[in-house]
Amino acid sequence: MPIFSPLLTAFRRRAAALVQWFDADYMPEGAEKMRAAPDRVDWMRCIPFIILHAGCLGVIWAGWSPFAVWTAVALYFLRMFAVTGIYHRYFSHKTYSTSRPGQFLLALWGGTTVQRGPLWWAYHHRHHHQHSDDPEDAHSPHVHGFWWSHIGWITSKRNFPTDYSKVKDLAKFPELVLLNRFDTVIPILFAVSIWGLGWLLEIYAPGLHTTKWQLLTWGFFISTTALFHGTSCINSMAHLMGRRRFQTDDDSRNSFILALITLGEGWHNNHHRYMSATRQGFYWWEIDITYYGLKALSYTGLIRDLKPVPPSILEEAARADHATSIAAARRAALVHPEYSTLRRVVPAAAAIAVATVNAAHATMPRRHDDPAIHKDVTELAHELGPQYPDRPSPSPASGSSHGT
Ligand SMILES: [Zn+2]
Ligand SMILES: [Zn+2]
Repeated sequence: MPIFSPLLTAFRRRAAALVQWFDADYMPEGAEKMRAAPDRVDWMRCIPFIILHAGCLGVIWAGWSPFAVWTAVALYFLRMFAVTGIYHRYFSHKTYSTSRPGQFLLALWGGTTVQRGPLWWAYHHRHHHQHSDDPEDAHSPHVHGFWWSHIGWITSKRNFPTDYSKVKDLAKFPELVLLNRFDTVIPILFAVSIWGLGWLLEIYAPGLHTTKWQLLTWGFFISTTALFHGTSCINSMAHLMGRRRFQTDDDSRNSFILALITLGEGWHNNHHRYMSATRQGFYWWEIDITYYGLKALSYTGLIRDLKPVPPSILEEAARADHATSIAAARRAALVHPEYSTLRRVVPAAAAIAVATVNAAHATMPRRHDDPAIHKDVTELAHELGPQYPDRPSPSPASGSSHGT
């Protein structure tokens, strides 16, 4: 009957979406057709996110205990390490090596993050690097807006399939393909294990004053929701907030705050400039806890061959910071003399300090054909003007004559 035909199609579509929660490669209409679908929110794909966020409300009934809260915090950081150190720095960029069983173990750990399978994650992330901030980029805040880049893109049907042809180096391992296909299995087992742990603690460690429902709410729902938004900040905020050291052809930025929330991923501009290095904080003061964790793991033998930042990139970074210090010194020199000394000097001093420390970096090669960085910066400091009465104050028109 023709009247039933649209109903039947709608029913089939809903049924397929339901099956896809358990078998991510089930696509009766074909992956290509899904990828060609227009960019819009698919409400069936939103249901897992609604469940995840609604689960946090369980705290109203389950309450809290110090043990449950600390479990949430610990599982946030352990799994943020999995997102950044495993899904990103291993599966997406292969910045270090491991054995095949080691790779499988890492994939299991990654699965607990509830951010789908390792191949889906790597495929989308490699696509992001290829098309950063151009219309093809699935989660550029500049092209699609903040909320789409933060969460909307994951709910769109076109971003659901994994393009195995783009991750052939990973797709050759059937065990990884299996984990990627049934990508809800590990998260469900993980949630049940936390609940089970709470049940055991209720019986055998009553002194902790925690319950199975508290552990499920805090250890799984709250921790996973926070982990999702922490990770998503890199897709949305890391292309909006922070400083651009390298003039990459996207709008990636370096942010200390994002680096703390995401255990080092906030050095996103560094990463876009050179994605093959294991570390994303290029200097000791660019805190990159994931890198420290990976370094520690390398001593156990589980992983090996961590890739360093090449000296040529460090030199480029030092020169970029040097140019920033020059610009800051010039800006400070142009500030009206009635402004406080602190306001005039501090930004320039900070930029000069960064450039100076960079210049002293042990592995940075020196260039003999250009003036030394220290010399340039010291001379520019004198251009700050009135506090050096023997030198004339620079006028905005003349500025500095130093080359950068
Ligand atoms: Zn990016
Ligand atoms: Zn990357």
